[in-house]
Amino acid sequence: MSEKLAVFGGDPVRNTRIHYGRQSVDQGDIEAVAATLRGDFITCGPKIKEFEDKLCRYTGAKYAVVVSSGTAALHCTCMAAGIKAGDEVITTPITFAASANCARYCGADVVFADVRYDTMNIDPQKIREKVNERTKAVVAVDFTGQAVEIDEIRKICDDNGMFFIEDAAHSIGTKYKGKMIGSLADMTTFSFHPVKTITGGEGGAILTNSKKLYDRLLLARTHFITRDPALRPEEEGIWWYDQIELGYNYRLTDFQAAMLINQLNKIDGFICRRKEITRIYDAEFSTYDEILKRTEIPESDTCNHLYVMRLNLEKLKCDRKLFFKAMYAENIQAQVHYIPVYWFSYYQSLGHKRGECPIAEKVYSEIISLPLYPLMSDKDVNDVIHAVKKIIDYYRK
Ligand SMILES: *Cc1c(COP(=O)(O)O)cnc(C)c1O
Repeated sequence: MSEKLAVFGGDPVRNTRIHYGRQSVDQGDIEAVAATLRGDFITCGPKIKEFEDKLCRYTGAKYAVVVSSGTAALHCTCMAAGIKAGDEVITTPITFAASANCARYCGADVVFADVRYDTMNIDPQKIREKVNERTKAVVAVDFTGQAVEIDEIRKICDDNGMFFIEDAAHSIGTKYKGKMIGSLADMTTFSFHPVKTITGGEGGAILTNSKKLYDRLLLARTHFITRDPALRPEEEGIWWYDQIELGYNYRLTDFQAAMLINQLNKIDGFICRRKEITRIYDAEFSTYDEILKRTEIPESDTCNHLYVMRLNLEKLKCDRKLFFKAMYAENIQAQVHYIPVYWFSYYQSLGHKRGECPIAEKVYSEIISLPLYPLMSDKDVNDVIHAVKKIIDYYRK
């Protein structure tokens, strides 16, 4: 006899709702912000450079540029790469919209390459099939935190003279073949939104080993305004500056940088707890045929940002929609990452069609992101597991 589901009037597994993600903010973060607010600089001050240097030490990248969001970081990479109307940029459909939008901000067309069914990451073979003389960049996303097939994508980009942009919004702290994410692509971007591994409320960063790209990224962050004395006309004084391309204000504040320095100091603990919860979920679900096994490439030592559970729909009498609703009634607020980006009205209006990436669409029908964040208690984790098992027991074929 299975337990009565909350969705049918039974008792929920818990009385308060738990969400799929949540920030970890402590007294140290609050003090770091407050101290900066009491100081002389609340933007463009010393905390920006200090955080950038710290990101370089953490990732092994030569240069870091911090910006106001992960989306701004992606836009800056495309500006730095000189992407423009008529160009094409390849990305995955299983991502947040920003991974594709960054190409559109520069007027380029987005081409979606399908994912691997097992890893849910962009398939290098599918990238190769989409490359043509207009393709200027690949934006590869380390979905859930698992590294993409970096060596394969690196080779495709090198063979075709394209930029390799790694959207690592999920994967700060992940290693690929023992090397930290951040120094492996031409440019790597992070997001510091509250659900991500470390947060400044908002914020983002771009890592690169190229001095040339670094110089352009610095300009892209502040309106493409230069004060380089070497460019200053003879008749102008030291107040002089010039705007050399169209740019934006994508600066981060100093108090956010101060908070992020403190967050980065704690990242090992965050990662450890995320990995631990992931291992518990994996172990608990391992005997359930109704849940597909998670597969990872052996090269990736993953810091899990999301726990994406995949339903084996052939073994269940419900679909993802019903399962999700039942979880919600149990007071587990899951999430779905992601709706294939080209299904959005905006991308449909540009001519993208359903069916473009059939594997991504199948993946989409199976996925539910379970709560995963460092401050989850053991009871929270057990409640999630309890709800999942309860619902499976009811809907099992
Ligand atoms: C969160 C996220 C972004 C955007 O970051 P913001 O800081 O919210 O602008 C981009 N790509 C992916 C894959 C993300 O998860």
